[in-house]
Amino acid sequence: MTQPIQVTVWNEFRHEKTNEFIRGLYPNGIHAAIADGLDKAGGFKVRSATLDEPEHGLTDNVLSNTDVLIWWGHAAHNAVEDEIAAKVRARVLDGMGLIVLHSAHYSKPFTGLMGTSCSLKWREAGEKERLWVIEHGHPIVEGLGEYFELEHAEMYGEPFDIPEPDTLVLVSWFPGGEVFRSGCCYYRGRGKIFYFRPGHETYPIYYDENVRHVIANASRWAAPGNAPTPVFGNAKPLEPIEEE
Ligand code: ZN
Repeated sequence: MTQPIQVTVWNEFRHEKTNEFIRGLYPNGIHAAIADGLDKAGGFKVRSATLDEPEHGLTDNVLSNTDVLIWWGHAAHNAVEDEIAAKVRARVLDGMGLIVLHSAHYSKPFTGLMGTSCSLKWREAGEKERLWVIEHGHPIVEGLGEYFELEHAEMYGEPFDIPEPDTLVLVSWFPGGEVFRSGCCYYRGRGKIFYFRPGHETYPIYYDENVRHVIANASRWAAPGNAPTPVFGNAKPLEPIEEE
């Protein structure tokens, strides 16, 4: 039997405590809804971590026992300690997968790994979102059709100030006219990163079956494989060669 993938769902977890409407949508926090989706998909051992825990719940022990870290943040990116954000980035370069959701485009782990502002356009009007699969056959969109829709979403639009994705798997369309690169894959060091757009806190996005399906697929994709540890530096030849 294969080992379950160890996923840590990190959530800022402040809107749910201070806003009654959002607490109504996510009574146990956004992280609990995401964890529930992964539990139902199966094959994962899921824990959660939140901003207001000591070390934001991301102790060295938690990070070293995390195959894939899922990150949701919005209003308190600056409350994340630089030291913890740096540890997260170092673990990604060392092979941990990172899934960055929605407004976490501005999170310290993501902007630090991208090296750009990660700014974008936005509008909160409860618009429909249509997410087009543009990389059929990619493991993250396995099982999806040509597209799926969310009836009410916050709009994110281009320009999205990110480096060109290594693979772009999803593009969103909004009725207001904008488009957005909403499913972006990156390789950084030994780690895999997936940015996935849906997830505004005032909509029940993390109960949507397609969204849950993508997050489960992405968690499998981003989990570390068993690639050999890279060896850098001066190298002896594998075959005899004449040295000048
Ligand atoms: Zn939002």
